[in-house]
Formats: sequence, C-alpha cells, structure tokens
Amino acid sequence: MKYSDITKLKHLAQDKKSRSANPAIVRASTVFFKTMQELIKHEKLVKKDKKVDFYEYGRGGSQTTIALENFIAELEGAHRVFLTPTGFAAIALSIMSFCRPGDEIIVTDACYHPTRKITSELLKEFEVKTQFYNPDDFESLKEKVTEKTKMIFVENPGSSTFEFQDLSKIIQLAKKNNIITAIDNTWGTPLFFKPLKLGFDISISSATKYFSGHSDVMLGTVAVNKKIYSKVEFYNRLAGYRVSADDAYLVLRGLRTLDVRLERHQKNTKQIINFLRKEKKIKEVLYPYKKGTKNYKNWKKYYSGATGLLSVIIQSKSKNSVFKFVNSLKLFGIGQSWGGFESLALYQKIQRIYRKYIKKNHHIVRLHIGLEDPSELIADLKQALKKIK
Ligand SMILES: *Cc1c(COP(=O)(O)O)cnc(C)c1O
Repeated sequence: MKYSDITKLKHLAQDKKSRSANPAIVRASTVFFKTMQELIKHEKLVKKDKKVDFYEYGRGGSQTTIALENFIAELEGAHRVFLTPTGFAAIALSIMSFCRPGDEIIVTDACYHPTRKITSELLKEFEVKTQFYNPDDFESLKEKVTEKTKMIFVENPGSSTFEFQDLSKIIQLAKKNNIITAIDNTWGTPLFFKPLKLGFDISISSATKYFSGHSDVMLGTVAVNKKIYSKVEFYNRLAGYRVSADDAYLVLRGLRTLDVRLERHQKNTKQIINFLRKEKKIKEVLYPYKKGTKNYKNWKKYYSGATGLLSVIIQSKSKNSVFKFVNSLKLFGIGQSWGGFESLALYQKIQRIYRKYIKKNHHIVRLHIGLEDPSELIADLKQALKKIK
C-alpha cells in the first residue's frame, strides 16, 4: 500500500469477502481441505515462505491473525511479522531463535526486567554468555564484541531510565561483525520509528501497550527482514506460540486509532513536562524534551514523535513520602504496564546493575500520561507532590 501510515491504519485489513471495514473473527483449530492433494499443496506453500490467507491447522493462526500480521508488516516495512501471546514472548522468541551454546549476546543494561532475566539467567543454563552494556556509552558496547557474539539486543529507550542511543552506530558495528540485531521498540512504535528501515534485523513491540491502547489484551509482535525470517519461523513453529483470533482482533481495532491516540499522548505529555520541570521536588525529567542534551539529539535523529511514558527523579530522604506521592494520585492508577488510554504511576525499584546511574536519595517514579484532560492531571500531580518530604 502506497499511502501514509495514517491512511494505512484505517484501510489495511478490510475484508473484501464480507465487504466489512474489519476482518472476520475466525476461531478454528481444524481447517478442512477438499482433498489430500490440496492439503499437501498448501503445506508446501507455507514451507516455501509463500503468502497464504489461512493456515492448514489452527496453531499457525487464522484469517484474523494473518490479517494482523500483514497489517503490522506494512507498518514496520517487514518481510514478515510473527504474533506472540505477550510482548515478553516476542522477546523470548527473538532471542531463543538464535542463541545456542557457546554464543554470546550483548544486551542494553537498562532493559525491561524480564529481558534481563532471560538473558542473564535462562541463557546461562544453555551456556550462552550475556554481557550488558551501558546505553550512554557506545564504547562499552563495542569493547564487548567478540567472534562469538551472536546478537546485540537493544532496548531504546530504556523503559525506566530513558537513554536514547545512536542506533546507526550499533547497526554498523553489527554488520561489520556479522551480528544479528534486535530492538525492543515498544516505546516508539513503528509510527515514530521503523527499526527495519534503519537496518535492524528484528523489531519487537509489546502490542499490549500502544497498539491495543485499551488495557484489555496482551500480545507481542516480532517483525523480521527476509535474511533471518526462516530461523525465527523454525523456532516459532516448534515453540507452539499462538494468538487467539479475539485478541488479534482487539489489537487490530486498537491500531485504527494509533496515530490519533499517540498525537494526544504526546501533546498531554509535553504539557505535563512543562509543569514538572519547574517543580523543585523533581530533580530531573527523563524524557527527550531538553534541547542540547544527548538524549534529545539521538531521539530527534531517529524518531518522528515521542510517546507518553517517562520517568521523574525525585530527591528525598524519605522513600515513604515518595510512596505517599504515588498513593495520593487520584487520576493515576498504580499498576504495571502502560500504553493504554489511562494515566499510571509506578515507583521503580532500581535494584539492577543500572542502579549505578542513580544517586543516593534519588527515586525514580515512572509515569504514563494518558488521554485525560491534562489540566486535571497537572492539578492531581500538584496536590500529590506536596506529600514528598
Ligand atoms: C511491557 C513491556 C514488554 C512486555 O510486554 P508484555 O505484553 O507485558 O509481555 C516488553 N518490553 C517493554 C519495553 C515493555 O514495556
């Protein structure tokens, strides 16, 4: 489709057969064929990486999940997209498709916590060595590359501390050393940044967040280029991942308004940052808003927009009073996840290695700025900030 992303979001996955604006929800395990020959022919098509509009058995997916896969492949500029039951499964699929005993993987230090667990703990049991690099220091990545490095796994920005990296440097380094590159692009979404176009092999999104946008479904997406497609396809088939047609439909429905929601998240977030940066109790706002900073420069270089997730550093000797701040918020729910229509707040336990970036008596609270009236969100933050001692 030659249209802009905005138009694509409205026109992709229309169902010509039923003349509907959206695809049908097809629930199926068994799929019928007229003859054995037809079944065998179909299996061959799938094996040969030919596009099909149904799979020969429900584990592969259904018309609804294929519609969503093709939809996201268009947005990402991908050869193919795999759907997984959660965003985390998308990370696991990407890593487990490639890392084998004796290999090494290099991972962004400030990554999503389960990503740290699977690489540092599970992979260790398979004799895969994990090294974490400081996202603020390209040299710390470069020096970890050896001939055993199989994959560089990037999270950009780090979803608690929001470092933005100079991504094309990473791509160059990886290409030179024949290393596979994967990026968790959940924050930016393919609307604001398209990793495969820059040269990443794998672009991962937790569709639980902005793709769905309504906090009522979990799903993950792995967008891949042609070069590595068959390796991921092989593992995906044997891992038995499958997504229900109902869940795929909910994500597809959410995608229709992704552009409109992100625009509003961005606008609200800007207003709230303008308030937060003037508050004395806020030491720092972790978000690419400040011109002249490294994060701003790297954000601007690769992204056409910014979304609604940020962190603030609060300076206080009383952790309890920072908890009180979070607890006193009336319009911000206390909860995991983000990317839905609603605002959220979460005290971040920084027990990981990247704790070294955080000073004593500094606390990180992550905020998701939702689609509420921003002046009411500001009033809410104002009253709650008073609790911090
Ligand atoms: C939430 C999240 C994930 C995992 O997604 P789930 O759908 O919750 O499994 C992965 N990466 C990032 C950056 C996330 O915020």
